Amino acid sequence: MDFKYLPCPIKNVQITESNAFDSLVVIEDNGTPKAVADYVVESKKFDKAFSNDVSCFKVNNQTIIFCPLAINDYSDVREYFNAAKKGIERAVKAGYAKPTLLLPSSPRFKNGQLSAILGALAGLYVPIQYREASPANVSRIQHLFVTSADKTDIGEVLKQAIFLGSALQISRDIGGGDPERMAPPRVAEYVEEAFKGGRIKMEVISDQDRIEKDFPLFGAVNRAARAVPRHHGRIIFLEYVPPKPSRKTLMLVGKGVTYDTGGADIKAGGIMAGMSRDKCGAAALAGFMKFVEMASPEDVHVVIALCMVRNSVGEECYVADEILTSRAGVRVRVGNTDAEGRMAMADSLALMKERVVKENLKDPHLYTVATLTGHACLAVGDYTAVMDNKVAENNGHGLNFCKAGDILGDPAEISPLRPEDFTFHRSKAYGEDLLQCNNLPSSRTPRGHQTPAAFLIMASGLDHHDASSTKPIKYTHLDIAGSAGDIPHPPTGAPILALAQLHLM
Ligand SMILES: [Zn+2]
Repeated sequence: MDFKYLPCPIKNVQITESNAFDSLVVIEDNGTPKAVADYVVESKKFDKAFSNDVSCFKVNNQTIIFCPLAINDYSDVREYFNAAKKGIERAVKAGYAKPTLLLPSSPRFKNGQLSAILGALAGLYVPIQYREASPANVSRIQHLFVTSADKTDIGEVLKQAIFLGSALQISRDIGGGDPERMAPPRVAEYVEEAFKGGRIKMEVISDQDRIEKDFPLFGAVNRAARAVPRHHGRIIFLEYVPPKPSRKTLMLVGKGVTYDTGGADIKAGGIMAGMSRDKCGAAALAGFMKFVEMASPEDVHVVIALCMVRNSVGEECYVADEILTSRAGVRVRVGNTDAEGRMAMADSLALMKERVVKENLKDPHLYTVATLTGHACLAVGDYTAVMDNKVAENNGHGLNFCKAGDILGDPAEISPLRPEDFTFHRSKAYGEDLLQCNNLPSSRTPRGHQTPAAFLIMASGLDHHDASSTKPIKYTHLDIAGSAGDIPHPPTGAPILALAQLHLM
């Protein structure tokens, strides 16, 4: 067999030039080696569980970890991701330290191989805090080998897997770190380290007074945390300028709420646990920027803002009824301090819009990416909800985004914006423009995941750049509350794969 070496920069998977593998992870497919396929046919005759569970057995003195697939009309490429993940986890459990993943050859899913490698890497992930606390356990195996069943050249697949795997690793580290390990200043340190010496420009805004002045809605959320220096908010900008004149510009703003207590409207009754994951939007974008850096597109300009803030409680915390003026000059009455994600992002989104206009950026598309609402989980389950403004919708963005997500196993569903979503947030009080939020959980508010997109459009002033304006700007809000992944599982990294596939692959 011809083994390809995976020179993976992912720190918890050490790879060497050796090809002395000790076990073969096989995903049930057309490419399953004949001896193994024969064994499988025999086993299925006497073991009804064989088609559902990963098995470990020997054929011709070679250890095989066999991962069955159950594919039907509604299946997608994630079947390969999950099979490889379970297979690698089973190999580790069985005590094998140098497994080889035999890549499947699916005629239906052309990214089955890529998805399988990403699944294996997900199965080998070691959380950052365990890596730091216990260097001896920094990797779960010694080597990961990858080869293809059909002997095709997998060089390109490996390259993509390394790029995407590195991006996903960063998103898992930041998103999965606890509220202290990944407090805003430490996220800034991590990001600085991750992009050190490369071509990504980085600017971190740490001056708390400047934050309050230039990003007033973010500043309101950050106010309680100002009493604790190690929890101070940070706005982190990353920028990739392509070598050739840019053809399009992506500007993405991520919600990085490192811990969400709910603020004065505190999350009571045991619903606070898990809120360290409220930074997964920013975490995914930091990862996406790693993909951009490694893929180095020649004519795509990418700018990212990571809005890292802790929604704390204390005597300085912002409260409902406060009237604040956003960076875009929009007067906002706070309705509920637990709706802090839209506050954290609106001013950075306004800044992106200002840059589009001032610098006349080429074919811009603005995004917000956030674990924003419980309503999104109810409405679309474990999927990303895509909300286009009319300019993006007219461009066919939502459908293309979902199609891209399907191709790489990072699926999404469209939630159209309606007039009611905007009406909902328009203030009824004289002298005020917007009401930030009602006083029910989003999960008990009709259209509870769509209205925040309307709020973001209006609070950032993007409503002046709608389809009928002289300078229309494409904007899409991605609610990843359902797709980001919950404790005890590592973050999924959604929507890195969909964004990469749509814009850069
Ligand atoms: Zn909240």
